[in-house]
Amino acid sequence: MRIESERLVSLNPATLEPVGSVALTDPADLPGRVRQARSAFPAWREAGLDARIRIIRRAEELLCAQAEEIARLITLEMGRPFAEAFTTEVEASIDLLYYYWKHAHKFLRDRRVPLHSVFFKTRKSFIHFQALGVVANITPWNWPLLIPLGVIVPALLAGNAVLFKPSEYTPLVGEKIREVFIRAGVPEDILINVHGGAEAGRAASASGVEKVFFTGSTAVGQAVMAQAAALLTKVVLELGGNDPAVVLDDADVEIASSGILWGGFNNCGQNCNAVERVFVHRRIYDRFVSRLVEKSGCLRIGDGMDSGTDIGPLATGAQRDKINRIVRAARNSGMDILAGGNTLPDKKGNFFTPTLITCEGNGDVIPDEEVFGPILYLKPVRDDDEAVRLANASQFGLAASVWTSNLRRGERIARQLESGTVMINDAVVSFGMTEAGWTGIKKSGVGWMHGEKGLDEMVNMQYINADPLFHTQKMWWFPYSEKMVAAIRAGLVFLFSRNILKQAAAVPAVLKHFTGYLVLNRPKRDKL
Ligand code: NAD
Repeated sequence: MRIESERLVSLNPATLEPVGSVALTDPADLPGRVRQARSAFPAWREAGLDARIRIIRRAEELLCAQAEEIARLITLEMGRPFAEAFTTEVEASIDLLYYYWKHAHKFLRDRRVPLHSVFFKTRKSFIHFQALGVVANITPWNWPLLIPLGVIVPALLAGNAVLFKPSEYTPLVGEKIREVFIRAGVPEDILINVHGGAEAGRAASASGVEKVFFTGSTAVGQAVMAQAAALLTKVVLELGGNDPAVVLDDADVEIASSGILWGGFNNCGQNCNAVERVFVHRRIYDRFVSRLVEKSGCLRIGDGMDSGTDIGPLATGAQRDKINRIVRAARNSGMDILAGGNTLPDKKGNFFTPTLITCEGNGDVIPDEEVFGPILYLKPVRDDDEAVRLANASQFGLAASVWTSNLRRGERIARQLESGTVMINDAVVSFGMTEAGWTGIKKSGVGWMHGEKGLDEMVNMQYINADPLFHTQKMWWFPYSEKMVAAIRAGLVFLFSRNILKQAAAVPAVLKHFTGYLVLNRPKRDKL
């Protein structure tokens, strides 16, 4: 990316050639944009869910019709191979639209809250879902379509307006997203794009919107939370990870090595939920490592537009420099680099070879930082307990995987892992299962995306309670009296005593006080 005369120029990371450009947004314009969205919001909310569903269905059709074109744009802007962009990103995005419009009525209809207390049994009691207003969506470049849509689609369905800031490295995909929704019928001021880097993101998170949905690094997420706090703006943060894979001694080495190869190196390792640390039972460690080395040697590195490419370039020069630094540090600390570990100087783009680093000595400690690139750290472990302990020894808690032929054992390990998601015998792909829901624990996030919980984040949950009996007097209203206290005293024993004799003894007092109360305070039936 570079900035030229007030425009953000997007660069192809495989060739470093420009792909296109968009106009930069002046951060000082943000309050005005929020006002624009806020005044368009009531009409959008009042348009009704059926109208909004029709628009999202149309957007789904438009995405389908342009699926290959959009996948190509993703490849051109951030480098991931076309086949990968087409399947894991575009197909999963279309599925996300389908999932949300299909379930929107079920998720957004009033939710009954049955009341158990005898005092309130007759009440009408439910949660009503109200649109929030204007929400901001600040996103990264690594899944430039699926991540924004994971916010935009449920936000629009719930009746919100969206201020969307795509990553400065993928502004063209960001523009394409807006174009699709506007063509589908979303009003211009209901989905507003803001282009720029940190300045624009800072302005968006401090702009007084009702909620900020941020996906990006943990460090920036913390800054967003602080910026939003000044106005007590709510936040959902989907942040970094340093995901472990635990390979048990009964794992099928072929399956585990192929799955972890893909989990670590697809999208050139630039996934928040990429496998980064691999803990392998000592009994199968050598076999596993030798298969992984062989398989990583077969990966074809190149321009993502070439159909034979498995691994594209890193998305930015900064990413390549960071990965270089991590490999240098590993070398300097005496760890073995079993495969990869270098850039491709004969190629123009930000290429880096898939890298396997072993940490076999007692002193070899895998750094607790997010790699976010094509590096897998491999470490042998004695037993399940050691694997779980090392897997959990991280500030992050995004996703994890367990590899085993015994699903019950896999689930036992999964329950002990401190992460928002655990996959058994697969990795990464649950992010494309919309109903699964997505969240990080520890320093990996706050709140949910995807699934029903993702839609819950888009609304105010308003509790409504109505008394349909129109009593003239309620027991807890004025005036207070000794009679009222006696009634509650008897009621407490009758309802909560663990002693059946005491409960039986309280019955006469309960009947006396409560019958009297019900008789004296008959409902005003004429009002029913
Ligand atoms: P980043 O944190 O550098 O930037 C993310 C977005 O925030 C960009 O749009 C950027 O312009 C904006 N931004 C930068 N500074 C800001 C500020 N001070 N205030 C507000 N916005 C600001 O992340 P990135 O390099 O674009 O993406 C990679 C990171 O995203 C990785 O850490 C990865 O783990 C994380 N990520 C997390 C998830 C998840 O679901 N948990 C998914 C994808 C990526």
